[in-house]
Amino acid sequence: MRVVRMGPLSVEVELGDLTVIALSDGETRMPVTHLRGPDGEALADLVAADVAAGKLRLPVWAFVVRGPEGSLLIDTGAAAAWHASLGRLGEAMREAGVAAQEVTAVALTHTHIDHVSGLVARDGGLAFANAERVFVATEELGAFRAEPRMAPALARLMPLEQGDAPMRGVVAINAPGHSAGHMAFLVDGRMLIWGDVVHHAAVQFARPEVTWAFDGDQALARASRLALLQRAVAEGFIVAGAHLPYPAIGRVERSGTGYAFMPVRGGA
Ligand SMILES: [Zn+2]
Repeated sequence: MRVVRMGPLSVEVELGDLTVIALSDGETRMPVTHLRGPDGEALADLVAADVAAGKLRLPVWAFVVRGPEGSLLIDTGAAAAWHASLGRLGEAMREAGVAAQEVTAVALTHTHIDHVSGLVARDGGLAFANAERVFVATEELGAFRAEPRMAPALARLMPLEQGDAPMRGVVAINAPGHSAGHMAFLVDGRMLIWGDVVHHAAVQFARPEVTWAFDGDQALARASRLALLQRAVAEGFIVAGAHLPYPAIGRVERSGTGYAFMPVRGGA
């Protein structure tokens, strides 16, 4: 992997003939009580937490995988559907030189508001008009269809299962728990774009047993996180996540009883 460029809202890395660009949708803040211990209890000892004004920092990222045959957008940010500090995907794309028209397919890690909302523009039309296919996990097709704002995308919907490749070189991997059909994507066999496997890096790498209030199934989310962290170390994956701190891309190392996140650096 080669780091090509690190901008304020976007980070570009090269993996063979594929390029991955992390695109910031902005950052919001969440109550510290959203981090949960093994029995679902709020944690009292959050000394390591990354806190601003008494709240947990929650960055939101989407990713573009650019290849010879097109560009796959993985997740689409919150647009205007959630917090006012989010919805900066368009700005990040301009910074990175990614035109909306170059996106030939969209794949969602899951259908929560901060991942799906950017698919539809403010005027109600498709934000990525040339994205012929929108991949959504089979388990979450119902949730996607139930959202009236997503109506313009329904004709392009493609069910996604583990092992499917929404683009050549990008393979879907089941990572359930945060939501029923939550998916990670393995790019070029070496970079795992894992959606919401980690929500608060400052705590959950060191203590991967800690869960998040919005994990639909806390125990399953924990099991998926533990399994993917272990696999990332064993296979030397680069990891990238929708809620990791800047630059949203890095490596995982074993550290004490848990793990540590080693962000990529310019020139690294
Ligand atoms: Zn999320």
